[in-house]
Amino acid sequence: MPYRRTLADRLRAMIDAQGPIPVSDYMALANAHYYSTRDPLGAAGDFTTAPEISQMFGELVGLALADVWARAGRPAGVRYVELGPGRGTLAADALRAMRAAGLEPAVHFIETSPILRAAQAGRVPNVCWHDDLATLPEEGPILAVANEFFDALPVRQLVATATGWRERLVALGGDSFLPAAGAPVPDAAIPGHIRHAPPGTVLETSPASVAYVRLLARRVAMQGGAALIVDYGHDRASAGETLQAVRRHEYADPWREPGEADLTAHVDFEALATAAAEAGVRVHGPVGQGDWLARLGIDARTEALARSAPDRGEEVRAGRDRLVLPEQMGRLFRVMGLSAPAWPAPEGFA
Ligand code: SAH
Repeated sequence: MPYRRTLADRLRAMIDAQGPIPVSDYMALANAHYYSTRDPLGAAGDFTTAPEISQMFGELVGLALADVWARAGRPAGVRYVELGPGRGTLAADALRAMRAAGLEPAVHFIETSPILRAAQAGRVPNVCWHDDLATLPEEGPILAVANEFFDALPVRQLVATATGWRERLVALGGDSFLPAAGAPVPDAAIPGHIRHAPPGTVLETSPASVAYVRLLARRVAMQGGAALIVDYGHDRASAGETLQAVRRHEYADPWREPGEADLTAHVDFEALATAAAEAGVRVHGPVGQGDWLARLGIDARTEALARSAPDRGEEVRAGRDRLVLPEQMGRLFRVMGLSAPAWPAPEGFA
């Protein structure tokens, strides 16, 4: 068998030759490798997402988008744009619900993983794939969705030390990798209320996420439409480290075996909202996923589904509970809406 170098081998050689690398580079390289070499979703994989738990999630996303489109006067030439569509389950459920509401948009997926593109092709016909938003056509209103996309984008970490704030780097540490303090960061780059935080305090930002939401918001503002961003995170920026690794449904050490576990960080919705508003859209929420789904009618949908398939009633109700209950996904997961200035506000935020 040929000897294949793992990503860890390559990163080790890189750090050995050039010195420690920024946390954001480590996370970007690890996730690019991770997503391009496997389908990580579901019971047999590493983690499970809302659309994989219940068809109602995608259906209600589709209904919310079809509703805002109907109230905008049913414009033609609409594009459904999904960022990081995973297995395509959310899109399949959302597009079915949209079709029932009289909406059949063109479908555009932003996806870099060849393995997941193949899975998506099996579930959704006539998809146009893109590596990023740059190649998305510039005409036609956009109805966009991103579920658990932003948490996978790289974060930058800064760490407080006895001699001031520093960029956090990834260095070699025996058979593992280790975070280490790098070059000093000017005080002005640190929000005033944490500037004098105790040594060891970590501040995370995600320039990649801010850049992504800015491009998305600019397109929605320019072309018309709305976007729904769903992820775990916080409504207000605060200090603290949230970078985590998940493998086979358990937390793992993010500094070990990069590229073999899903690396994510909590999404800073305040930063996303600020960037989106600056780019010219109206921002709605964020609100808890549980409240949002309740306002869109998940309880009525649960009972209708359970009635139509009584043998699956228990499973349908269990799925609803997992998505909605505050101690499950209902509170940690936030939903934020964006809408073009001339479009109505999407449902579910008030
Ligand atoms: N939305 C899906 C999958 C979430 S997993 C669900 O809810 O089930 C994250 C998804 O984002 C995967 O499809 C992954 O391949 C994709 N992804 C991660 N980083 C990306 C990037 N930089 N550009 C495009 N897609 C990316």
